[in-house]
Amino acid sequence: MTKPKQTFDLDTLRRKARYLEVIHEFALSQVDLNSLDEILWNVAKTAIAQLGFLDCVIYLLDETGANLIQKAAHGPKNPIAHDIFKPIMVPVGEGIVGSVAATGNVERIANTQLDPRYITDDANRLSELAVPIIHQGKVIGVLDSEHPELDFFSEDHVQLLSTIASLASTRIETALAMQRLQSTVQQLQRTERSLEKKAEELREAKIRADHASRQKSSFLANMSHEIRTPMTAIVGYGDLLTRPDKSSEERFEWAEQVRRNSDHLLGMMNDLLDLAKIESGEFKPDIRNCELNDLVTDVCALMRPRAEAKELYFNVEVIGPMPLIIETDSLRLRQTMVNLISNAVKFTDKGGVDVRLRSAANTDNRQLEFIVEVEDTGIGIHDETLKQIFEPFTQVKETAHKSFGTGLGLTISQNFARMLGGVIELQSEPGKGSLFTLRIDCGPLDSTICVAPKFFNLTRDKPRVRALSVRRLDDVVVHVVEDSVAIKLLLQHLLEEAGAEVRHSANGKEAVDSILAFGKQSQLPNLILMDMLMPIMDGYTAVTKLRQAGIRTPIIAMTAFAFLDDRDKCLKAGCDVYMSKPIDPAKFIDQLAACLHYEEQVRIGS
Ligand code: ADP
Repeated sequence: MTKPKQTFDLDTLRRKARYLEVIHEFALSQVDLNSLDEILWNVAKTAIAQLGFLDCVIYLLDETGANLIQKAAHGPKNPIAHDIFKPIMVPVGEGIVGSVAATGNVERIANTQLDPRYITDDANRLSELAVPIIHQGKVIGVLDSEHPELDFFSEDHVQLLSTIASLASTRIETALAMQRLQSTVQQLQRTERSLEKKAEELREAKIRADHASRQKSSFLANMSHEIRTPMTAIVGYGDLLTRPDKSSEERFEWAEQVRRNSDHLLGMMNDLLDLAKIESGEFKPDIRNCELNDLVTDVCALMRPRAEAKELYFNVEVIGPMPLIIETDSLRLRQTMVNLISNAVKFTDKGGVDVRLRSAANTDNRQLEFIVEVEDTGIGIHDETLKQIFEPFTQVKETAHKSFGTGLGLTISQNFARMLGGVIELQSEPGKGSLFTLRIDCGPLDSTICVAPKFFNLTRDKPRVRALSVRRLDDVVVHVVEDSVAIKLLLQHLLEEAGAEVRHSANGKEAVDSILAFGKQSQLPNLILMDMLMPIMDGYTAVTKLRQAGIRTPIIAMTAFAFLDDRDKCLKAGCDVYMSKPIDPAKFIDQLAACLHYEEQVRIGS
């Protein structure tokens, strides 16, 4: 039998060749692509370049299988590859694309306007072709193209796009599986990392808990010892006191022992109560105006004999301008300073203790800080203990048996310092000594008046009158040097109301002439209030001239600048006190009274 001769019309041949060529090109172009993104964009690009489509959008089903999500799109709306600003979401079953996903059948729509499923997003798109991407019998996505011409898509287009979809499907599914795998791996890695972190946190928490528990047990043992020692003395000496045959000197000495040991017990109980309150968050600082000079003098008067009893030196130095009245909880500040200084004395056997006082602006230049440095030449503290020294119940082993303490002092002090807006810092070298630095916030920089160091009288030989209780300026002559009439009138009013006599000059030159003339008649004022910025002669020059002429009257500088440099500049020029504007009328007279009071102390003392 002879084979029937096959006949091909030229058109069919051309179409077949074209078909093979497109598929071949597409297959080649996909060879090197691995990521899902690359594969999808390549499919969209091929549909346009090879098939002459205007656009091509690729949707893939999401994990729920209920929605198609746009993953790639080429065409006028998405000219730049890999840039999809708002991925379109189509629920399966909705619109033409949605029904292809639901049925798995190709949809070739000659006139979209006649198809009720068509979701119009662009009225010029008249025909549409949507083919499913099927993998192992299941729809995983849809390839979709629209065109402005009616009946644009041919049967050839259907065949080509379907073949491209089925060629791409395996690759897409593999890439999807890779993506899923990668995200599972990443998830596992994240879980592993977070488990490692949790384990680390638990390890640290356990170490802390063990440490705390050890500290508490040793604290209880220590406390028991600390309570028994003074109790033994109290019971013992109390018993001796009941004996009738003893001399009054002996009885006096024993009574003294009972008192000293009771005081110690009481102090310890107070520490414990303070700590309990701090830990329960009950503690609130009682912030009021406090006379710093008085507080510091008290603390030094208390500590000096302790140092001297151990034959240690005890130096107190005031460095730079000092705030006169600060806003703080004076009781807590005092307790903290006493604790730092008494520790320094306690843990020093040779040399001594230096206490340095200074003030500085905090980092944002708004608040004033009061700084106390306590430096000793004592036993020092080892590096490993430095970190825990502010934790409760910490006592360095070597010192525990020697010292009369509970290991609570520094914890309480650090908590107080924090409550007062500050901190305690520590540097130490074993065998050489320690430097404890206490900083506390003492109120706004611009409303805190500062005095020259000489105003800080740190001795307690003469009975002191509390400055804050002196509220009147009777018989006081105040010379106001101020060019602003409004401010002059305000000051005059406040001063006269408090009983002062007021003189006035409108600039530095007038003031120097007038004050020197009064001086010649032995009628110098008791106080000069000096504005620093004035025409003709400013305050700095006037103060310098007055001081050169031997005038010792206290001068209060008043400026509208509130930075530390200004304070220093005023004090360098010879002013004694710095007050920044605006003045606070409620505090003004108190502050002047305090200045006069200190000036008197210094004068009597010198
Ligand atoms: P306490 O003095 O009641 O034991 P603290 O909390 O005040 O408690 O101090 C804790 C420990 O820190 C002290 O027992 C001591 O070992 C160490 N310490 C504190 N101050 C100093 C200092 N200036 N020099 C050396 N060691 C110090």
